[in-house]
Amino acid sequence: MTTASDLSSHFRFVLVRTSHPGNIGSAARAMRTMGFTRMELVSPHRFPDREASALAAGADDVLDGAGVHQGLIEGLAGSNLAFGLSARRRGVNLPELTPHEAAMQAMAAAQRGEQVALVFGNERTGLENEELARCHAMVRIPSVEDFSSLNLSQAVQVMAYELRVALLGENIPTPPPLHDEPPADAAQMERFFEHLAQMLDDIDFHKGRAPTTIMLRLRKLFQRAQMDERELRMLHGIFADAQRMARLAKGEK
Ligand code: SAH
Repeated sequence: MTTASDLSSHFRFVLVRTSHPGNIGSAARAMRTMGFTRMELVSPHRFPDREASALAAGADDVLDGAGVHQGLIEGLAGSNLAFGLSARRRGVNLPELTPHEAAMQAMAAAQRGEQVALVFGNERTGLENEELARCHAMVRIPSVEDFSSLNLSQAVQVMAYELRVALLGENIPTPPPLHDEPPADAAQMERFFEHLAQMLDDIDFHKGRAPTTIMLRLRKLFQRAQMDERELRMLHGIFADAQRMARLAKGEK
């Protein structure tokens, strides 16, 4: 039988461009109280830092083990499912979940053996659209409209608590696997989107229009599909053939 602590290891908390090291420490404490230890920091303004250690209040193992990365793609390496936490509805048009709904989906994914990321934004600016676009769904803590933004570490606490409750829940049926092949991870999806963009360019799909909006829509479509590695290989093959035909049509070899 899988226990809460086995499943906890399937989760990581990713803090993006955090300004205040104190918030990193408080977030580490919030995670640790709920049994989560994996923290990934993307371009933190200051880390390591005394203030982070002070506010971690003993959750030093979380800080010591925290990965530091330049970009979100690296912070998501090896993850199969990512939830972006945001106080505001953004222009990205992702499915929006409550923390409870996200926790239930995250649990099901963890039980299938997948790695799940919870992604949190900068204190002032939150997550950028580009960053949210790398997530499968957005999670909004249902705060009041006119004062919607929680302190970063308190948002981490709410999400960690919901996950903890879900992990402790009894009689959760083990979901059937979505795939018989390994699910694609974030890095494979990134290479896929690069190939897709290049192929659309090569077949002159954009015809002078800016590719940004269509690429965001395609991201949403393909993220939703939660593809496995074999499906990715098949699409890479199709794109490569389309590129070959485009070269032939242009009279290149
Ligand atoms: N003005 C920013 C607030 C940033 S607060 C914004 O609108 O997004 C720092 C981070 O805490 C956010 O990026 C988000 O990850 C998390 N957070 C704060 N309040 C939240 C809420 N109500 N729902 C979901 N996440 C929230």
